[in-house]
Amino acid sequence: MAKIQAPVGKNQTLEVQFEDLTHDGNAVAKVDGYPLFVAGALPGETGRIQVTKVNKGYGFGRLIELFERSPYRVDVPASEAYKYGGTQLQHISYEGQLQFKEKQVREVITRIGKLEDVKIHPVLGMEEPWYYRNKAQVPVGEKNGKLIAGFFKPRSHEIVDTNESIIQLPQVNEAIQAVKEICSELGIKAYDEATHKGTLRHITARYGKTTGELMVILITRTANLPHKDKIIEQIISRLPDVKSIVHNINTKRTNVIMGETTKVLWGNEVIYDYIGDIQFAISARSFYQVNPDQTKVLYDKALEYADLSGEETVIDAYCGIGTISLFLAQKAKKVYGVEIVPEAIEDARRNAELNGITNAEFAAGKAEEVIPEWYKAGITADVLVVDPPRKGCDEALLQTIINMKPKKVVYVSCNPATLARDLRILEDGGYKTMEVQPVDMFPQTTHVETVAKIMLKEGN
Ligand code: SAH
Repeated sequence: MAKIQAPVGKNQTLEVQFEDLTHDGNAVAKVDGYPLFVAGALPGETGRIQVTKVNKGYGFGRLIELFERSPYRVDVPASEAYKYGGTQLQHISYEGQLQFKEKQVREVITRIGKLEDVKIHPVLGMEEPWYYRNKAQVPVGEKNGKLIAGFFKPRSHEIVDTNESIIQLPQVNEAIQAVKEICSELGIKAYDEATHKGTLRHITARYGKTTGELMVILITRTANLPHKDKIIEQIISRLPDVKSIVHNINTKRTNVIMGETTKVLWGNEVIYDYIGDIQFAISARSFYQVNPDQTKVLYDKALEYADLSGEETVIDAYCGIGTISLFLAQKAKKVYGVEIVPEAIEDARRNAELNGITNAEFAAGKAEEVIPEWYKAGITADVLVVDPPRKGCDEALLQTIINMKPKKVVYVSCNPATLARDLRILEDGGYKTMEVQPVDMFPQTTHVETVAKIMLKEGN
């Protein structure tokens, strides 16, 4: 089909009706069939927009005035935390957000996965869908000789100084603000990505909600952190919850936040947190779920779908610090976990020991390489759990699963589109997707987490 030539021009204002919401939370208005994407509007609403960008086939607009409001709309305070905080769905009632996410999942399961008769449950949401994140990682800049830290303006590298995020735990907001102020008063220079000069690139705060332990990470371009001792002293005095202060060095010109070298400046190498009854040690570089309350909901669902009797061998692919592995180890004969970040595997081993769990074994490496080796060496699983990053499972891993034939696969996904793609591959390889349960790990944002129960079809 030929792409529609734009019937509108840049900067033109026009009155439109909004029809739909895309997966990234933009409303869609059509002008003679030509779609314009507009942030902050909702289906069923009408309003005036200004065209901001015109491409072949589609364009973008900015909402200037709203005429008819959607019943799902809620009012949003006009503060910078709301304006720039990356909370694309904050103008939708929480009920509306959950419906939006369920629809997302349903749509890709049928369109990309081409799966029918899969039971898709309503999204499990939070009671208080605000101030939930246990981690923040903020870029640092400079303005009028002072350090600023917060969010990038959309589609730019300009930093907006924000002391609060409406989705971060108050302790995390407070830590970021304190470290920014301490470093600013001591005259630490912000890193400037244009010139690749300056010192402080990012500040990270991590908080164990169940233990009250705080970790602060300062990420610098330079190997040296000026005024190190004063920084440590002042962080300890302003943030009494701090248990670990870490310095990470990233000398490269890159968007990747952390560099290769990590040093503990003060306190422990890790902080601790509990999910259910299990205690976890978390180090600076390891992945750990950011919404502790909903993590428990997610893992309980994964455990329910695994339906273990105590006799099973389980493989947990993409295991991080062994969170799901140790959850499952309590109900399985043996669990094998594999993860690409070596520090996370060290944490996983430490976590098994910490909890007196002796039936879990961990390996550092790529899931798509280690699991085929295990399979060759005669290790097979009754239940295989995968929890890959957004790009989904590697083909080689899916092929190994199809050959190994575990009776059950539990797929935990942070991207429904790649989940749907992978479910199709498993379906063609002899599996059937039984149920899909979305869990809202990231309220106010467009992200949705999903867990799927997949069974080997009889005769395979
Ligand atoms: N299951 C864990 C971690 C999930 S996040 C939890 O719930 O906490 C996905 C993890 O996959 C990350 O820890 C990431 O480091 C890891 N990872 C990314 N690519 C990988 C690969 N090819 N093989 C193994 N692990 C990988």
